Amino acid sequence: MPGSRRSHHPPSAERGDAVNGPKLTDMPHQGVKVFADYTAPLTLACEAVVVGSGPGGAVVAKELAEAGLDVILLEEGPPFGAADFRQDAGASLRRTLREHGMRAAMGQTYMPTMQAVALGGGSLINSAICARAPAFALEHWRERTGIGLTRAELDPHYEKVERFLGVEPTRPETLGRRNQLFKAGCDALGISSEPTPRNVRGCKGSGECFTGCRTGAKKSTDVNYVPAAIRAGARVYTSVRAERLIHDGRAIRGITGHVVEPFTGRESHAVRITAQTVVLAAGCMQTPVILQKSGLGGRWVGDELQFHPGLALMAIYDEPIDPWEGATQGYHSLHFLEEGVKLEVLWAPPAILATRLPGIGHLYQRNLLNFDRMAPFDVIAAAERSRGKVRAPLFGWEPRISFDLHKDDMAVLMRGLAILSDISWASGAVGVLPGIVGLPDVLCSKEQAEMLRRAEVRPRDAVIASNHAFGTTRMSRRPEDGVVDEYGRHHTVQGLYVADSGLFVGSPSVNPMLTIMALADRVAQCIAGNR
Ligand SMILES: Cc1cc2nc3c(=O)[nH]c(=O)nc-3n(C[C@H](O)[C@H](O)[C@H](O)COP(=O)(O)OP(=O)(O)OC[C@H]3O[C@@H](n4cnc5c(N)ncnc54)[C@H](O)[C@@H]3O)c2cc1C
Ligand code: SF4
Repeated sequence: MPGSRRSHHPPSAERGDAVNGPKLTDMPHQGVKVFADYTAPLTLACEAVVVGSGPGGAVVAKELAEAGLDVILLEEGPPFGAADFRQDAGASLRRTLREHGMRAAMGQTYMPTMQAVALGGGSLINSAICARAPAFALEHWRERTGIGLTRAELDPHYEKVERFLGVEPTRPETLGRRNQLFKAGCDALGISSEPTPRNVRGCKGSGECFTGCRTGAKKSTDVNYVPAAIRAGARVYTSVRAERLIHDGRAIRGITGHVVEPFTGRESHAVRITAQTVVLAAGCMQTPVILQKSGLGGRWVGDELQFHPGLALMAIYDEPIDPWEGATQGYHSLHFLEEGVKLEVLWAPPAILATRLPGIGHLYQRNLLNFDRMAPFDVIAAAERSRGKVRAPLFGWEPRISFDLHKDDMAVLMRGLAILSDISWASGAVGVLPGIVGLPDVLCSKEQAEMLRRAEVRPRDAVIASNHAFGTTRMSRRPEDGVVDEYGRHHTVQGLYVADSGLFVGSPSVNPMLTIMALADRVAQCIAGNR
């Protein structure tokens, strides 16, 4: 009987993976304007312009369009389809990432950090982990800048986003040995762990999230929120870089920019859009650049940059485990979250992981031959004591990024690395590659690995990287303490909003994407309600 079947999943339209007529998955980018479509300067008008199609911007564009607003979504990068993805790390990073994957924060150490330039932003190349920030993290935010945001307040937004994305725990059949070994090690030590909740459907466990999902299983915002925005009437322009806000210091009037060629960034036609509402969701590195170049770089803009710095080790097993099989980051442990430590299973293209192997010449070759017996595990730290800054460059649009890792946060990272080592031994590892200058290349026993607990390691002695960045346009109750209020409204310029990870007032303790989307949903609700 029609309609009598019951399902755990919401109706597909609510879930964002189907349309009336052809399936969205067949042509997810239909209606998206691309570089080849522009033959003259663009002069447009609308009610709301959203800048950036990542987790923050895509949510706002859909929600505003569905609320009946005339919306334009601008995205600097091009769209990528499943057929465009390359497994080759170099080729992939060059095409999908800012500064061709060479971006780094400079401070007492050089810390690589990746931001995408593509339709879908970071969601296109991330590991799809969807985690809600714990209540204690949001409580810290409240204490810091007086905002009234609580976990209970954010939960309905989390639920709505999770339902639309179709978030579910990583399925057992897609774990592979790498994720299973991490679970086994945690179980043996009484450390709680769980399959990561992810926005995927039909994941094949190919471990390729980082270079783009060739099977179309990952539900990045370019294949759900952006098409839904288009269905609701939004106009989406890729290869358009928003550059300067049009404003008089009190109210927003629109934005200007340029059409830019994919991969080279060469400017072609000028763009001018008039609108009563502008939502900046260009990511926490680019949004401050737009504000600073528009004469709105007051106190706090670009300040308070925070990261989740990450460290990884390689566990070595005595038999092949084919680590390339299994969901990219299919298991994690939230056991030590209140200490500022999150533990994860990792995978990345071999060309990247192989740079972590020790030795040169024959020794390096021997290590490479054992690649099929190695599993990378990583720790990310909340790093609440560490800060950085983002500053617009004098020429061009790529920000100068600085960051200093506080020595106490470095100690937290090392504590996490020592726990990962314990998990490795408990899962049957026969060796651990710690990747720390000044320590042995290979730790050969659990007893020897205890040195991870005693070693005083400086940031520059470890290979630290971070792809979770936030805080550069933070929310605050009073204008004296931040850039926007808790609904993303700019404190002084009416009609101007922020809806990306720059909103965060501190670490969310877990991976940031879901919290960005929940906050963006809340920002959109505020804009639609204010009409
Ligand atoms: C390799 C990797 C793995 C990750 N894994 C996870 C994970 O599993 N789970 C998780 O929660 N988080 C993960 N993250 C982090 C997460 O992806 C980011 O925090 C998130 O994408 C940030 O969302 P955003 O909307 O703030 O900005 P972004 O995703 O950076 O989106 C901003 C968009 O704006 C566009 N843009 C920028 N400037 C302009 C301009 N001037 N004009 C027009 N458009 C512009 C950009 O091209 C981009 O598409 C990962 C990140 C990386 C790099
Ligand atoms: S693990 Fe592979 S199949 Fe699964 S979402 Fe990532 S890239 Fe797609």
